[in-house]
Amino acid sequence: MENNNKRFSANLRMKNLEEMSSSKLDILIIGGGITGSGIALDAVSRGYKVGLVEKQDFGSGTSSRSGKLIHGGLKYLKQGDLPVIREVGRERAIVHENSKHLVIPVQMLFPIVKNGSFNKVTLKIGLASYDKLAGVKKEERHYMLTKKEVFEQEPLLNDETVSGGGMYIEYRTDDSRLTLEVAKTAHEHGALLCNYAEVIDIIKDQQGQAIGVRVKEMTTGRTFEIFAKYIVNAGGPWVDMVRQLNGPISGKRIHLAKGIHLVVPFSRFPVNESIYFDAAGRMIAVVPRDGCTYIGSTETDYHDDLDDVRVDQEDVDYLLDCINGMFPTVKLTEQDITSSWAGLRPLIQEEGKQAAELSRKDEIFEADSGLITIAGGKLTGYRKMAERVLDYIINKGELAPSPSQTAEIKLTGGKFNHYEELLHLSKSALLEFLHFDITEELVKEYFYRYGTNTPKLFNIMKELISNETNEHKEFKQIAAAAEILYTMEHEMVVRLTDFFDRRTGYLLFNRNMIPEIIDVVIAHFSKELNLSEKQIELEKQLLNYEFHKRLDFLSSKTHS
Ligand code: FAD
Repeated sequence: MENNNKRFSANLRMKNLEEMSSSKLDILIIGGGITGSGIALDAVSRGYKVGLVEKQDFGSGTSSRSGKLIHGGLKYLKQGDLPVIREVGRERAIVHENSKHLVIPVQMLFPIVKNGSFNKVTLKIGLASYDKLAGVKKEERHYMLTKKEVFEQEPLLNDETVSGGGMYIEYRTDDSRLTLEVAKTAHEHGALLCNYAEVIDIIKDQQGQAIGVRVKEMTTGRTFEIFAKYIVNAGGPWVDMVRQLNGPISGKRIHLAKGIHLVVPFSRFPVNESIYFDAAGRMIAVVPRDGCTYIGSTETDYHDDLDDVRVDQEDVDYLLDCINGMFPTVKLTEQDITSSWAGLRPLIQEEGKQAAELSRKDEIFEADSGLITIAGGKLTGYRKMAERVLDYIINKGELAPSPSQTAEIKLTGGKFNHYEELLHLSKSALLEFLHFDITEELVKEYFYRYGTNTPKLFNIMKELISNETNEHKEFKQIAAAAEILYTMEHEMVVRLTDFFDRRTGYLLFNRNMIPEIIDVVIAHFSKELNLSEKQIELEKQLLNYEFHKRLDFLSSKTHS
């Protein structure tokens, strides 16, 4: 089933759709977020014939708008959600092992605050139970800090309210890239995937059983019919909309809860490590990353447009107040914000409960037509969710049983065992580009983005450099040209926003870079796709909208 030679190229999309519609699949997955991509990888590596369609880009839903932490769910201790903590805590070790370039351990400081949810005793018990439940490795277990030690570690904290703390390990990730790499790894094992392909109808037989889907390819409007033994709805916040395509919904429904994150320059909020704190019952994370510090999140019930989730002014004011209360000398204002994002948690509705009280556990529902839906869950638990969906399907009896393999499958860029191997690769890369304005930091950034696939990116750079007609003289321009070419050819980039938002994260963490490289990126992007002036203009408008939306906050919403 290994399919290593076939590139995950945008050119493959039509071919994949044609192949999906040419013969019956074992499993067709709707949605290319972390849940759907994880199911595709689990299913194909068990030997089944698998297809996946995603209506926008991989990870463009909630899976690019999370807190970007692969975490053991310490906050769920407060809700007493022990099974969730046990599972996600153990999962994070596996997710880290299989994608070490994207899932990086970071120290997390948990300060004890006056009138907060934890005191010295309860935090100690909480962190110790967390270590035990989550099976945390000995070297990563928590330790407690006195007030003096907390302030040595983090002098920006509020001296009047903080009385001590605990230190433990969490894992920072890039959610969009993790999703993309899970999808690409599924492709490498032989799954057929296509982004910008929306399921617009469920096809049923005369007995009312779901036997296929009608899909609209979004760049041409062409439609395809795809048939499968099992259809899995992994539509995240859209799962109920997909269920409605199948017929009236019965049973449980989705409860959407919005959360936002704000990005400020690291120089304005120079924390020494990640911090997780309790602000009047809400847990707020502060995470330094790529020359920035990001903070989040909020949690409010959501009833607006699912396709364009925006940050509210009220959320911004609330988060800034929380930060300025906890770090009084920092005095962050709205003018410090350089970017933001907002996402929807697809939680499972429970009578009489508000978003913050709902469990993060996942559930599988099956409609009378046989349409299987998976909802809830977390980024961290994606592998286990996928395993459960496959076990559920196998139990139905039509597919030959086969055990899950994914605990042992390294993701496409994660094929190394020790960070030293990446460091060695990055040192040799530095030697190759000795004559250019390239820093060790930049090389490391590429390795943390593309992992063991980075040499392919560097080969494109070398080709561009050796091409005498190459008009880009600065390394920044050559690197941007190589990155857009690499991501179109190997990461199914279809739109400019795929590149600037989800493949590189420039829209979130390096916006100043965009004006410097935009012309080069557009030149190569439009040449490869042979775009007309009108199409280029549309791409620019979409990017422009995404760029400005990050700093254009909507007025008035209420917090739950
Ligand atoms: P999505 O990523 O939304 O994917 C669903 C996909 O289905 C979408 O891409 C959509 O375009 C596609 N789709 C919908 N309808 C159709 C159709 N008709 N045809 C084709 N495709 C369709 N989890 C963690 O582990 N750690 C965290 O730090 C964390 N922080 C979070 C912070 C916030 C603010 C939020 C909102 C969530 C957070 N989570 C976190 C939870 C985690 O992000 C989600 O559980 C996870 O991303 C959900 O993934 P998904 O694939 O189910 O949904």
